[in-house]
Amino acid sequence: MGSIRGTGLGRVVKVVAENHDVNSLYLNDFDESFAERKAGQWLSIRLPKDGGWSEPHPFTISCAPEDHHLRLTIKKIGEFTSTIPALKPGTEVKLAGPLGTFCRDIEAHPSIVLIAGGVGITPFLSVLRHFRHIRAVNRVKLFWSNKTSNDVFSAEELKAIADEINLRVIHVFSRQEDTGEFSDEHDPHTRYATGRMTRDVLKENQVSSDDAVYVCGPAPMQDFVLGELRSLGKEPSHVEKESFSWEKK
Ligand SMILES: Cc1cc2nc3c(=O)[nH]c(=O)nc-3n(C[C@H](O)[C@H](O)[C@H](O)COP(=O)(O)OP(=O)(O)OC[C@H]3O[C@@H](n4cnc5c(N)ncnc54)[C@H](O)[C@@H]3O)c2cc1C
Repeated sequence: MGSIRGTGLGRVVKVVAENHDVNSLYLNDFDESFAERKAGQWLSIRLPKDGGWSEPHPFTISCAPEDHHLRLTIKKIGEFTSTIPALKPGTEVKLAGPLGTFCRDIEAHPSIVLIAGGVGITPFLSVLRHFRHIRAVNRVKLFWSNKTSNDVFSAEELKAIADEINLRVIHVFSRQEDTGEFSDEHDPHTRYATGRMTRDVLKENQVSSDDAVYVCGPAPMQDFVLGELRSLGKEPSHVEKESFSWEKK
């Protein structure tokens, strides 16, 4: 995961609900080391707890490196992440980072495929927000798998980014029979599929072994997608992967 570069305090600006179980936490007043961050990097955060500090938890910085705030987009899964919505503006937090190398040289690739499962979208949101800032000319396809359309967030922003850069977004719903009201047939940059992220979905969207491929999502989803990519001639060792799994100390 990389070594700690900067540590220090930050301050909560606000918490914004993204959907039923995902919230974005905005921070400012952080260490200047974060000004040098790259899209796709993460940080470790501690919250005030019982007069001291909680254990550190890792989260990707989901905003663009050009943004003056830090934004963490956090899915509620346990004790720590469930406390996020109640954080008050002005609360001091402890931060360490920026950390990690996922997507580091992504700008160098002319044709890019991003494959996300659920909240594994966060490094790619950072990359796409960055690409919008720099008006990147790279060809990008974002495949985003969610259980249902209720799990999607930032969909309108993705459409707006796709209007400005060379981006196609493919939403894949694993537990929804049809894409129904969520799909917009007038939007030329967004496509929809149901079921798993199969080689057929990838092939229909012209994924080729020459593309630079990045995958971030739960381990079972990654394993499945890597198998599908291999069947299209893309060796798993040539795919950049990020895992959100971590061991509690
Ligand atoms: C590099 C990195 C970047 C990350 N970026 C993000 C991000 O942008 N957004 C986000 O929402 N999360 C992200 N995570 C995951 C996040 O750190 C954890 O979900 C969070 O710390 C869990 O804390 P908790 O106390 O709420 O849950 P816990 O109480 O620790 O866990 C609740 C339950 O979920 C299980 N669990 C916890 N974490 C994971 C996991 N990562 N994978 C599988 N099972 C798990 C536990 O074993 C337990 O059963 C990232 C993790 C890493 C390593």
